[in-house]
Amino acid sequence: MQQNKFYITTPIYYVNDVPHIGHAYTTIAADVVARYKRLEGVEVFFLTGTDEHGQKVQQAANDVGVSPQEHVDKLHQRFKELWVRLNISNNDFIRTTEERHKKLVRDILQELHSRDEIYRDSYEGWYCTPCERFWTEKDLAEGNCPECQRKVDKIKEHNYFFRMGKYQQWLIDRIKNDPHFILPASRKNEVLGFLEKPLEDLCISRPKSRLAWGIPLPFDGDYVTYVWFDALINYISIHGSLDDIKASGFWPADHNMVGKDILTTHAVYWSTMLKAIGLEPPKNIFAHGWWTVNGQKMSKSLQNVVEPNQLIDQFGVDVIRYFLLREVPFGQDGDFSHKALIGRLNSDLANNLGNLLNRTVNMMEKYFAGVVPTPATNGPEDKALTEKSGEVIAEVRILYNELAYNKILQKIWELVDTTNQYIDKTGPWNLAKTDEGKERLKTVMYNSAESLRVLGVLLNPFMPQSTESLMKQLGIEAPIAEQGMKSINQWGGLKPGSQTQKAKQLFPRIEDKQAAQILTELSSPKEEKKDNGNQITIDEFMKVELRTGKILEAEKVKKSKKLIQLKVDIGTETRQVLAGISESYEPEDLVGRTVIIVANLKPAKLMGIESQGMVLAASNDGNIILAGFDQEPGQGVQVR
Ligand SMILES: [Zn+2]
Repeated sequence: MQQNKFYITTPIYYVNDVPHIGHAYTTIAADVVARYKRLEGVEVFFLTGTDEHGQKVQQAANDVGVSPQEHVDKLHQRFKELWVRLNISNNDFIRTTEERHKKLVRDILQELHSRDEIYRDSYEGWYCTPCERFWTEKDLAEGNCPECQRKVDKIKEHNYFFRMGKYQQWLIDRIKNDPHFILPASRKNEVLGFLEKPLEDLCISRPKSRLAWGIPLPFDGDYVTYVWFDALINYISIHGSLDDIKASGFWPADHNMVGKDILTTHAVYWSTMLKAIGLEPPKNIFAHGWWTVNGQKMSKSLQNVVEPNQLIDQFGVDVIRYFLLREVPFGQDGDFSHKALIGRLNSDLANNLGNLLNRTVNMMEKYFAGVVPTPATNGPEDKALTEKSGEVIAEVRILYNELAYNKILQKIWELVDTTNQYIDKTGPWNLAKTDEGKERLKTVMYNSAESLRVLGVLLNPFMPQSTESLMKQLGIEAPIAEQGMKSINQWGGLKPGSQTQKAKQLFPRIEDKQAAQILTELSSPKEEKKDNGNQITIDEFMKVELRTGKILEAEKVKKSKKLIQLKVDIGTETRQVLAGISESYEPEDLVGRTVIIVANLKPAKLMGIESQGMVLAASNDGNIILAGFDQEPGQGVQVR
């Protein structure tokens, strides 16, 4: 019995992030299931969105000098635009700064507070600002944040807490009793491992004095809501009030899809929050893996962040959608390489599928003037082909339950290969030579085209654009969404008499020479930067604020061979600057000299002393010579 409503979500993406291949991956994966379910005639709700509160957003907005709201209004567009380009069929896009979301967050907080599921207490802990998380002493990794390894601050304050701890045993039982709840199984064991330690209550507030950019607690205006408590509610806030959610038929969600890094927050925080609210946890939380690029972790400093827009421009949207889900089993980590992508494009898409369509439509044109013939005979080869088709359809349906995308595609390619072999074995080019053969040819050409029609429907969730083009070439005008999976339950849905179109390459091959060129361009972004990066524009240079300054005091830094600590008057203020010039200058020779200071350098600590600028000097084989002037220019004068 097929359920008639289906709800799938991606995580909401952190609005400050630049959308990369990882975001695209989760969203495409969710999109494929959503599209498939719609083809099965199920009413689907597919949600994605952006996470827009928190300290880092506030900070980023401050840095560019706009309000946090203006900042997120602009930034969330990058996700929306990418989803349009990637043909993502989401039904809604939730932003946590929208009133519909904030309202439900407030209602839930109020309700849990009134039921004493939320209480006030004093709290002392180690706080990591970038992660916006408190850690206990035992969580720390050598005194630093266990998640990002940055330094943490000890903070004592009053806060509000959600009684998460009391749901620990309920959650453990739930996870153990429902093998489908957390997938893949290896990740489920990680969560159970986490739950072996006592589960503490969750601090769900942040004092407004420290963080203003959040949803104010409805029962205490001095606090805003902890971002995770706010963000997780997105999965239900699009459905309205708690009563609306229960009535919608879309809760519990069928799949909350998440990256493995946020599995614990979903499996533990979110499930217990829902329990307290009186809602069921999602039927399934699926944690997928991460992508490396050419064997390396994606990072801005390595300049290897794979930008989806660029990939779409280069290879086409369906190739990207296909590659990401074909290459790696969903749930495992994968490695992205352009070489592997080109390999899949050329072999699977251009040679196998593309060529099958091409030769079928060409032969249809050549032997039947593009009119689909009525099949006449039914031999063992035909039977084998139709049976294969039925087997593939049945297995694909089962594999969707496990989100086993790569297996689904492998299975579908069995039908691609079988159909190619069917054409090779029956040999239409020989059949066309005799009258008897021509009768047989009708069946062979019909079956080849019919098999392609089945493939068009099966592949539509993965490659929505190309499969519509495939159908048109076969002479089928109705959109695949209208035909649905039911149109392939029976062999023979292609109408004899349909007029095929002129063959068109679905996936042009990338020839070796062109591939080599693409790979060279892509693999050397760093060198490229270096070659052209020698030169800077005048604007870039003018960012460096150089000023004259008079040295007022100078003394050697104890225990340092090189450093001298200077007090420098730069006109508007006196700066403390450290300079590595001790081997070339005595402190007493420096006092009274005018030097050039980089005045807008970010302060840095050297040997525990803060340096608020840099002194310009030439260095010649370790001999340091301070830059100076042939006339006295005065203090605080700009240098260009
Ligand atoms: Zn951290």
